[in-house]
Amino acid sequence: EIKSEGKNNFRFYKEGMSEKMVDTLSLESELVDAIKNQELEVYYQVQINLETGKPHGVEALVRWNHPKRGVLPPIVFLPLAEELNLLAYIDEFVLKEAIRQGKTWHDSGLDQLKMSVNISKAFFQQEDFLSIVNRAIEETEMDSSLLSLEVTENMAVLQLQEIRDKLLALKEKGIKVSLDDFGTGYSSLNQLNYFPIDTLKIDQSFVRGNSTKEKEAIINLIIAMAKSLDVSVICEGVETEKQLELIKEKGCNYAQGYLFSKPVPASECETMLLDLNT
Ligand code: C2E
Ligand code: MG
Ligand code: MG
Ligand code: MG
Repeated sequence: EIKSEGKNNFRFYKEGMSEKMVDTLSLESELVDAIKNQELEVYYQVQINLETGKPHGVEALVRWNHPKRGVLPPIVFLPLAEELNLLAYIDEFVLKEAIRQGKTWHDSGLDQLKMSVNISKAFFQQEDFLSIVNRAIEETEMDSSLLSLEVTENMAVLQLQEIRDKLLALKEKGIKVSLDDFGTGYSSLNQLNYFPIDTLKIDQSFVRGNSTKEKEAIINLIIAMAKSLDVSVICEGVETEKQLELIKEKGCNYAQGYLFSKPVPASECETMLLDLNT
């Protein structure tokens, strides 16, 4: 449901309102329908194993196929979804679809492909979060060790004990946990040790663009930390050969970025995966 306060604001500010704000409000009301009209689609972006050059896994990334505006990226509608309390619902949809797709790919010969899914704070803290994840895996019979859930440091505003318990429950089922956008949030080193994390994803802001001393220093630090904690490292936002060489040199395990592929629909991703795998 649309917040009534938002509607009042709309009336109040109508005169001086920018086109962009009006646009946002109409999107809000359309998003509610988008879900039941099945306008959301899961795209996949390949992650490359830097040791072998072969696909390691894919990350599931949601898109909205808007009937009039075309394919919308998450930045346009996830903040709205959060305001409307629809974010957990969208995550659940993406999770189920990604697990279904992952199982299909595993059965068709890509039997070691990791499937990564983003989990919002809203979904994670939901009471039935664990049972939804477990049920989705049981129903499709996907190998749970091939599922990786991506959480972010903004989760740390929740009770730390609660986060740890839920992550441990996932681990008990064999599910992997990745810390996304690492380096941009505020988790401290001792927290990192407290949580059962398998993978650190270095945020793309440290990789994209020209390399600087500062960015390199952060990459070095994260990789050193990962090594000492015995977790693997994925670099996001790899766009050029030069960036690839740099992160390889530094001992990063996996890479994800436009150099290899943008996020693409499942069928397109499948063609690419089979191609890269041979
Ligand atoms: P993220 O989880 O950090 O995902 C990586 C984002 O970086 C993706 O943007 C991807 O397209 C983009 N990216 C990857 N490599 C490159 C590159 O080389 N250059 C550039 N310029 N960008 C690159 P996308 O798909 O727009 O998603 C943005 C964010 O939206 C995600 O960041 C994630 O935080 C969120 N998101 C996407 N799907 C979901 C979902 O199903 N649930 C939740 N809760 N969040 C999601
Ligand atoms: Mg992610
Ligand atoms: Mg990220
Ligand atoms: Mg990001």
